[in-house]
This record gives sequence, C-alpha cells and structure tokens, in this order.
Amino acid sequence: MRKPATPSNHNPTALLRTHGLRVTPQRLAVAELVFSKPMHVTARIVHEQIRQNHPAISMNTVYLTLGQFEACGLLKRFEVHGNIVFDSNTSPHDHACCNRCGTIIDLDSSPSASSKHTVQLPTQLKPWQIEGERRIWMGLCPDCSSESVL
Ligand SMILES: [Zn+2]
Ligand SMILES: [Zn+2]
Repeated sequence: MRKPATPSNHNPTALLRTHGLRVTPQRLAVAELVFSKPMHVTARIVHEQIRQNHPAISMNTVYLTLGQFEACGLLKRFEVHGNIVFDSNTSPHDHACCNRCGTIIDLDSSPSASSKHTVQLPTQLKPWQIEGERRIWMGLCPDCSSESVL
C-alpha cells in the first residue's frame, strides 16, 4: 500500500502551491525539512532545526504550520508520551516507540501483515463509520534493551 513518492514531494514549493498554501520562507523551510524524508518530529525539533537558518521563526509559527500541513493531508499527527508527533509518512502504518530513548519506528503494514493483526471491531463501534485505526507498540528498542541487560 506504500505509495511511491510523488515528484512534488521533492519540490516543496510546488507541494505548498498544490495544496493552496501561500509560499512563505518560513513555511517553505518547514516543508523542506519534514518532506525531505519520512520522519517523526515534534514541533520543538522542527523549531530547533529551522531556527538555525530562520532565527525569527517562533515555536507557535512552526506548530501552526505543521497543523496546516496536517489539515492538507501532508502530515499525520499522533501522540506518544504526551508529545504530539507529526509523521510525514501518511500511508497507514503502526508505530513502535521506545519508552527510554523515545525512538519511533514505522511498522510495515503490508496487506498480509495487517490482515494477520487485524483486531475485531469493538461492539461499541458498530454504529461508527471507522476510517482507520493506528496502534503504538511500547517497549524498549534493541539499543536500550541491550543496555538494560549490562
Ligand atoms: Zn531506546
Ligand atoms: Zn510513522
């Protein structure tokens, strides 16, 4: 189900225009960062990186910009450990998050894997029109679990 990267992904300016977003230097800087490769970032991380070239950019601007990208379907948002994480991989997939270092990885949701793990729809959700379902697996990543053994 993984969609091949569209050419516009490599051209943040075109990407913004396609989605009706005005191209501002700050918005472009956020787009260049988050759409350069699939990544999971918080507004704070984006802010720290962009501030190096755009010292005037505020945390609020970064947060609002990420929210606009999300509203356009360019990013997905989820919450882990109380942090709002923006995901530039918008295809359906689950996550695993390390409780110690905070590493987040994408889990492949190939059709065979997802049918194997598909959970029964809870009875209470029968009247709902469910559009998706995402899971976050929590634990220790291999680096952290090997550290805890030492
Ligand atoms: Zn870890
Ligand atoms: Zn992801």
